[in-house]
Amino acid sequence: MLSVAQAQQLVLDHARRLPAESVALGPQYLGAVLAEDVAGDLDMPPFDKALMDGYAVRCSDLSAGDGTFTIVEEIAAGRTPQRAVGAGEASRIMTGAIVPQSADAVVMVERTELLDPARVRIQERSAKPGQNILPRGREMRRGETILQAGTVLRPQEMGLLATIGRTAVKTYRQPVAAVVSTGDELVDPRTTPGLGQVRNSNAPMLAAQAARAGAVPRSLGIARDTQESLQSLIAEGLKADFLLLSGGVSAGKFDLVPGVLEQLGVRPVFHQVAMKPGKPLYFGVHGEKMVFGLPGNPVSSMVGFELFVRPALRVARGYSDPGPRMLAARMAADHLHRSDRPTYHPVWLELRADGWFAAPIPWFGSADLRAISSANAFALFAPGERQYRQGEFVEVLAPDLHW
Ligand code: AMP
Ligand code: MG
Repeated sequence: MLSVAQAQQLVLDHARRLPAESVALGPQYLGAVLAEDVAGDLDMPPFDKALMDGYAVRCSDLSAGDGTFTIVEEIAAGRTPQRAVGAGEASRIMTGAIVPQSADAVVMVERTELLDPARVRIQERSAKPGQNILPRGREMRRGETILQAGTVLRPQEMGLLATIGRTAVKTYRQPVAAVVSTGDELVDPRTTPGLGQVRNSNAPMLAAQAARAGAVPRSLGIARDTQESLQSLIAEGLKADFLLLSGGVSAGKFDLVPGVLEQLGVRPVFHQVAMKPGKPLYFGVHGEKMVFGLPGNPVSSMVGFELFVRPALRVARGYSDPGPRMLAARMAADHLHRSDRPTYHPVWLELRADGWFAAPIPWFGSADLRAISSANAFALFAPGERQYRQGEFVEVLAPDLHW
């Protein structure tokens, strides 16, 4: 049986970046990846800029560390200075305003004393040319590439793009992820399940995971465990970039999903992974489209998504690091583990002054979504029987950390 690492490699071997498109920027593109180099259209700052409220002077007038100056002008941010600063003269200047000609330093207002409306005394022992002035073009030059293709858009990039007047950029297209739940026992969450029925919890969970991973989820509803029902929803789902199915992939009599996928032209890549929860996990491809048959049990579905689907979605979005990145944390308590397969066990992960700590959560297995609601990560325990000691390092999958 494939290891998790082997299966992840197979997924990545088939993962493709989606084409670029031009978008009008807005907060919905947070986390999108730039598909072009972006150059600035101006020098920043566009002029020699005062960094303090104070007085613009000539440094040479302060060589004695002290002096009385004639105030020739007041320059607010956004105004153009009308006068150069001559010997013995000073201009009152505000933060962000244009430094007047001939001035080579700004003395902060705290080091000055207004003697009358036209005269100021300045005491500044160590005035140096350029003090409290940001020279034109120091942050960036017109035409210089300031963001490269491959950059992930965060709030600071949104601001920077606005600074240079870019309200539209090319980004890699967001993948659409169709979500199909399968099972005769499933009912809509709005109804009360009869005996033997369960509410469809995987669809909203997987749609939320897809959204969190930057995809556009499209929930297609519940397919029954019949050829016809599966065929029609799967055919619909294959119109999306990603098709996420839950249930129907193990060895039961009504686990028809792999067979129907094959009839519809999906090429199987793997069908089982050595892991817990969720050994039956199907992955196949249909042209450029990726198809994941996740196990029906909710926790298995969730972990399978984070280990295999999310990395493929990241590649589709243009990320260069597909992840999932595992973090090293210390056990917050002793824990006895026994299992025949590598196990992703729910933990509460916490950052303390001396690093990350993982506290195991009591867990009743792959259907127990309630326990996962008290967890924020999964610790990877090795197969076999093993007493983990408090303070011992373990690897942790931490989907809530968004990396
Ligand atoms: P399966 O993988 O189809 O054999 O399903 C395994 C278990 O997961 C069964 O107990 C199902 O009832 C349950 N299950 C399957 N699909 C869902 C779903 N969409 N929501 C909640 N539980 C499910
Ligand atoms: Mg089923």
